[in-house]
Amino acid sequence: MLMVAPHPDDETIGAHALIARARRRGVAVRVLIVSDGAGSHRASPTWPRVRLVRERRRETRRELHRIGVTACAIDFLDLPDGDVAAHGGDIRRALSHVLSMLPGPVLALAPSPRDDHPDHRAVAAAARPRRGVNWRAYPVWPAGQRLPAARAMPLTAQERLAKRHAIRRYRTQTGRITDDPHGFALTAGQIAAFSRPAEIFAAMRR
Ligand SMILES: [Zn+2]
Repeated sequence: MLMVAPHPDDETIGAHALIARARRRGVAVRVLIVSDGAGSHRASPTWPRVRLVRERRRETRRELHRIGVTACAIDFLDLPDGDVAAHGGDIRRALSHVLSMLPGPVLALAPSPRDDHPDHRAVAAAARPRRGVNWRAYPVWPAGQRLPAARAMPLTAQERLAKRHAIRRYRTQTGRITDDPHGFALTAGQIAAFSRPAEIFAAMRR
């Protein structure tokens, strides 16, 4: 299985429970994080770019490690957060490379082409049809979005709680950085919407 996440946290928002289930069954899971995540706080004096990028990587590695995905199964493409669309070729090349390392057929997850965030749409556009790869789209923005022709994977109460806790532990995205007036932080409502009772996966429609 492959999870393609535009930013370091989308992997958890999109498919925390599915990834955990796959690993419990012994399925190989690779994760590709497309952008460096530096766009969430561009003006924090205490969190310059290098520190923020490093910490966001650490958050992703730690949460994935808890559900059985080790650091060597995670690739960081480090494209500029907010400008992913200018690097479609890089994403397609990285996808080809990582898909070649997975024994097929592969379930591959990418953001929805209808996502509100342009980085997410750019990643969706790079998720091209390929033999042996079954692409599925997961919704992120707007939080709580429904997708047409989507299949819902109901979560157990335990899975839902684990997912909510995992999202909250991406502390750079949940309020830890307070000295950037334009900095990003998930609201309580968004966290609740992301920890809904099911994970949603849809056929890739373009
Ligand atoms: Zn994102």
